[in-house]
Amino acid sequence: MAKQAASSLPPLLELGFIEDLEGDLMEEGAESGWAEARTSCDHLASLSSDLFHIPTPDTLCNRCEHPRENWLCLHCKDVLCSRFVNKHMLQHFQQTGHCLALSYSDLSVWCFSCDSYLDAQVILKLRPVYETAYVIKFGVAPPFRSVENSNVQDAGAEAGSSGG
Ligand SMILES: [Zn+2]
Ligand SMILES: [Zn+2]
Ligand SMILES: [Zn+2]
Repeated sequence: MAKQAASSLPPLLELGFIEDLEGDLMEEGAESGWAEARTSCDHLASLSSDLFHIPTPDTLCNRCEHPRENWLCLHCKDVLCSRFVNKHMLQHFQQTGHCLALSYSDLSVWCFSCDSYLDAQVILKLRPVYETAYVIKFGVAPPFRSVENSNVQDAGAEAGSSGG
């Protein structure tokens, strides 16, 4: 009566559980290439009334004459250097309360009071100056994101304009 040796079980059986790896998309909807910017700001009331005439992007800092990547105060159109240079825009905000500034470096709009970037393409009050600065800097109109659906319908029946 020889007892048969217990059949050897596959040793890896307990490792055989399979976890469902699907459905782990956590970053869904994250927009790429655009820094998080506010789409509203409570400090737009005191914007300059004439933002169609602004200094050129190569305007020197009015305090230290730093030549590049300065900021434009959107309240009084003063041009001042960034916090990474001599902080004259920051000092201007602290002295005057002018909190909205447009960067001549990348045309982003910063609100010191909100402590955040503002989306100049969404906030309608900022679009004109953004557009003006863009045209001055690049010579062409900015490529605004198309919000409205442009219904391009091909006109089938051409109305022959035979007038005289
Ligand atoms: Zn300066
Ligand atoms: Zn100002
Ligand atoms: Zn603000």
